[in-house]
Amino acid sequence: MKFSEVMQTADWKAEKHAPVIEAPEQVKAGEVFHVGICVGKEIAHPHTTEHHIRWIRLYFKPDNSKFVYDVANVEFNAHGEAVDGPNKGPVFSEASAQAALKLTTSGTLLAASYCNIHGLWESSKTITVVE
Ligand code: FE
Repeated sequence: MKFSEVMQTADWKAEKHAPVIEAPEQVKAGEVFHVGICVGKEIAHPHTTEHHIRWIRLYFKPDNSKFVYDVANVEFNAHGEAVDGPNKGPVFSEASAQAALKLTTSGTLLAASYCNIHGLWESSKTITVVE
């Protein structure tokens, strides 16, 4: 068994679980830019005690390296839990966050996300670095 066998992928416009990476097509070397990561941009995903997105992780794989780098790790921890019962709590996390980073080389941003009942999902986006 490999992660690739359980890591699902799909077009995020058609599948609510696929993480969305919002980043510029091109950035300047060494200049800070923002990357939005979320689940449910086109088709909303539930955020309830029973069914929610737990986390999204962002990685970067440079074109000139075989290794991938861990960039950001966002956990969504409030899902309506309360002493009164499920979904009675005052806070529901939305599966959306933003990372700030800078790059020195072109490559691919990869996002992994986890739904508590629908498992692991991935998506990627290439990004070009110019001098
Ligand atoms: Fe789900």
